[in-house]
Amino acid sequence: MGIWNVQDGQASWLVQKILKAVKHLQEAGFTEADMESMEKYNVSRVYMQIRGRMEKVGWRSLVWKNVRAPKWLFILYLAVMGRLATKDRLAKWGIVQIQTCHLCQQENEDHDHLFFKCSYAAEVWTSILKWKGINKNTKNWMEEIQWASKCMKGQNGTTMVYRMALENTVYCIWLERNARIFQLKKTTSSILVKHIIQEIHGRGSRYAKVATRLDDLNNYP
Ligand SMILES: [Zn+2]
Repeated sequence: MGIWNVQDGQASWLVQKILKAVKHLQEAGFTEADMESMEKYNVSRVYMQIRGRMEKVGWRSLVWKNVRAPKWLFILYLAVMGRLATKDRLAKWGIVQIQTCHLCQQENEDHDHLFFKCSYAAEVWTSILKWKGINKNTKNWMEEIQWASKCMKGQNGTTMVYRMALENTVYCIWLERNARIFQLKKTTSSILVKHIIQEIHGRGSRYAKVATRLDDLNNYP
């Protein structure tokens, strides 16, 4: 029996889930054609397919135990798994030929470049680290994740703000990349940094531990 035959309340709940998943898939860079070509329409299977198996990896706590914005986490999952529809992957599927990054226009786009080797993304991430009072060199993508998993675990205000900053920075860089490609809109790195900080304040102020830490971060870098 297909999902559309399920009765009343359950059906509308499934439809809501599907619509939400489609929205997230689109944010992740999947097109309608990609979705149509997926063999299984079961949302949980699609979700598992995208996020992959992750039970035994060290960064699990990074994405689960957090003051979470689901859309930030979803994009972070895909970025950690290397599953965003970056140009290197699209080229392998024969969807694009030119792989130049839209943020810097200098190098080819892949996960490691976007987070945060790209000069635009590096400016954003370095400013966010400066805002948090962290002075460290930007590492490659998996090293960034491993460092955060090791050094920024736990539930105190500092670690929670760090994880929010990482999630929202990845999310905003991905959206900026999409806006440049699909809407021909550009935001400068300094405006994007302000936006990221405002979002963290907006979301974090609801949680006592985070709000206390954010009181000390009431400025722009
Ligand atoms: Zn770039």
